[in-house]
Amino acid sequence: MPELPELEVVREVLGRRLRGRLIKAVTVAPRGGPIVIRDLTGQGFIRLLTAATFEAVARRGKFLLFTFADAPFTLAVNPKLTGRFQLCPPREPKAGPVHVVFHFKSPTEELRYVDAKRMGQLYLTQDLGAIPTFGEMGPDALEVSPEEFRSRLRPFRGEIKGVLTRAQFVAGIGNAYADEILWHAQIHPYRKRTSLTSEEIDRLHDSMRTTLIESTEKVRQEMGEAVHLKPREFFAVHMRAGEACPRCGTSISSITANQRITNFCRTCQPGGLIRGMTGAQTS
Ligand SMILES: [Zn+2]
Repeated sequence: MPELPELEVVREVLGRRLRGRLIKAVTVAPRGGPIVIRDLTGQGFIRLLTAATFEAVARRGKFLLFTFADAPFTLAVNPKLTGRFQLCPPREPKAGPVHVVFHFKSPTEELRYVDAKRMGQLYLTQDLGAIPTFGEMGPDALEVSPEEFRSRLRPFRGEIKGVLTRAQFVAGIGNAYADEILWHAQIHPYRKRTSLTSEEIDRLHDSMRTTLIESTEKVRQEMGEAVHLKPREFFAVHMRAGEACPRCGTSISSITANQRITNFCRTCQPGGLIRGMTGAQTS
């Protein structure tokens, strides 16, 4: 669930607050830990991270990359749908099932990895290329030029929403922000990429940038330092089925396919082939 805007703010906050902090100990929950931790170094997740000092946090697509002072390894975290971090005093209530805790020399705070469905992954590696699919990622959605966007789009022929969420095309966009971007661009989520006009492709690129940049600013304001939150109150259509479209007032539609919800406005985003869709359809 965390996508580019949320991860970008988490990166900012954790980068600022973890820098220079020495990890005194690492606690791994016996049940969840082995599912979320992937030690690609073969030298031990706990062993390598104990006594390591956080240096910087970067982001690549939906991965957060933690580096450590004078250390050859990176902690690459892909929270997937349900993972998140919580940086808080040890007594603070858990934001969900905690699988890994980083304890610091100063005991006033700890960093938790929380994941209700244990879907996320914490890779410890000396080589990012060893992480499955990492090397296949396209450029970050915020860094792709209109020309590159257009040329990268060419080999993909399917429904445009599916294309937008493929990291091989551009990295950082998931189900929620794809809905928001397509609403902004006034393009139906199930339009085939091959049916989009040149003008629509330009508009899509522009909407992608605008939506991601503006959303990052809104997340920054609403999340503050509480990196475990997922502020989405500002969404125009995603998870707003039945509410009025902020642009035209039409009731927002909802289609569930492949266990993913798609929300859009039938008036602002006309067309699209609705074929063989199973699941709920409202309005
Ligand atoms: Zn509308």
